[in-house]
Amino acid sequence: MKNGELSIVLGARSSVFLPYSNLGLVICDEEYDTSFKQQDPAPRYNARDAAIFYSSLFKQANVLLGSATPALETYHNATTGKYGLVELMQRYGDVHLPPIDIIDTKKIIQKDRSKVMLSPPLIEAITETVERNKQVILFQNRRGYSPYQVCQVCGWIPQCKYCDVSLTYHKFSNKLICHYCGTTYPPLTTCAACGSHNFMQRNFGTEKIEEQLLEQFPNFRIARMDVDTVRGKNAHDVLIQQFEQGRIDVLVGTQMVVKGLDFDHVDLVGILDADGLLHFADFRVNERAFQLMEQVSGRAGRRESTGKVLLQTIQPQSPILQVIQRHDYKAMYKTEIESRKQFFYPPFSRLIHLTFKHKMKDIIERGANEFANSLRTKYGNYIVGPAEPVINRIRNLHLMELLIKLPRDGKLIAQCKQDILTQIAVLRNERSFKSVVIVPDVDVL
Ligand SMILES: [Zn+2]
Ligand SMILES: [Zn+2]
Repeated sequence: MKNGELSIVLGARSSVFLPYSNLGLVICDEEYDTSFKQQDPAPRYNARDAAIFYSSLFKQANVLLGSATPALETYHNATTGKYGLVELMQRYGDVHLPPIDIIDTKKIIQKDRSKVMLSPPLIEAITETVERNKQVILFQNRRGYSPYQVCQVCGWIPQCKYCDVSLTYHKFSNKLICHYCGTTYPPLTTCAACGSHNFMQRNFGTEKIEEQLLEQFPNFRIARMDVDTVRGKNAHDVLIQQFEQGRIDVLVGTQMVVKGLDFDHVDLVGILDADGLLHFADFRVNERAFQLMEQVSGRAGRRESTGKVLLQTIQPQSPILQVIQRHDYKAMYKTEIESRKQFFYPPFSRLIHLTFKHKMKDIIERGANEFANSLRTKYGNYIVGPAEPVINRIRNLHLMELLIKLPRDGKLIAQCKQDILTQIAVLRNERSFKSVVIVPDVDVL
C-alpha cells in the first residue's frame, strides 16, 4: 500500500483508513446507505464523510458519490455549490421505473381484525405474475413470525427480562426471541398477568408471510431471505443463485432483498406494510422510507417496463407515499429540507448525541441531568433533553439520551466537543456516577 504497488482498492468502509501514498479518487456508491456509518463500537465514523475529509489531505484527490436517492445532506451540498452535481437523466439500459399501485388495506375487513398481510389484489397479482413464468419479491422489514403477542383477556405483552422490548415469536425454532439482546425464551402458554391461555398474534414478520404463502400457493416455489435463513455459510449466495436461475417463484424478505440485487425476471414487487416504515420518532423517517421503498421498487424496473409495485398501507393519502408513488425525489427533498430548516436539523445544524447507560434508573437520570446542566450555561439553546429514549432499557442497562444541535461553526463545534470530554471526566469523578457509561456520537444517523 505504502509503496504505491496497488492502484485500485475495492473495500468496505474501513478501507478508507488504509495508508494511501498517492490517493487520486474515492468512489462511494449508494452514499446514502446507513451501513457506511459504524455504530458500535467506537470509532463511530461515517466512511463517506471520512473519505471526503481524508481526500482533502491529498492535493489531487477527488470523491465521487453515487446514488439515485441521495442523503438529504448530500443533495443539499450538491445543489448549493459545495459539491459538483452530475445528473444522469437517462437510466442505464433505458430501464423504466415501475408504476406503484397503492392498496388501501383499511378497507379490507379481516374476520379477526388482524393486520392485512396479503390483500386480494396482491394475491391476484402474485398468481398472475407466476403464471406468466415471472418472479415476485415481497418485502417486509420484520423478521420472525409475530413481532408481538398479546393476552386476549388483559392485554399483557411478553417482554424481554433485560430490555424494554416485546419478544418476537419464531415459529420454526418455537421460541420467543429478543431482537435487541438475542435472549431466547420458551413459547408462552399462560399469561403472566392474569393466567389466561389465549394469546393473539399481532403484526407479522417474514416467517409468517412465508407460511401464509405456502398455504395460499401450494404449487409455487417459495423462499425466504432474512438473517434467520442466511445464517449458514454460503446460504445467502445459494438463495440468490436459485432465484437467478428461476428456481424460486416468490421471494419474501427483509432489507436484504433490496441491496444490490438485480434480477431479470422480477415483474412484481409487493411492499406489505408501508406503515411500518413510517412510524418512527426520527427526523429522518420520511427520507429513509423514501429511499427504502424507492430501492425496493427498483427491483421491478426493467427494459420492457412490464413490472409493477403494489404497496399496502392504511394511510393511502399520506404525502410521503404520494411522492413515492411518483418516484419524485425532488418533491421529497423540497418538503423535507424545509422542515429540517424549520426545526434546525442537519444539514442546517450538526448533531452530537450522547447516550448514558447504567443499571440503576435513578443514577442514570440524575447523572444525565447533572451532565446536561453543566453544559447549559454555554450551550443552553442548543441542548435537547436529557430524555428517555423510546426503548429505555437494553441488556439490563437503563438509558438516557441528550442531543446537542449546533450551528455549523467549526470553532464552536470543536469547543463543544472539548467541553463534553471535560464534563464526562468531571461526572465520572463523582463517586455515584463512576460506573455510568457515556457514549458520544457526532453526526449521529
Ligand atoms: Zn392476561
Ligand atoms: Zn433483550
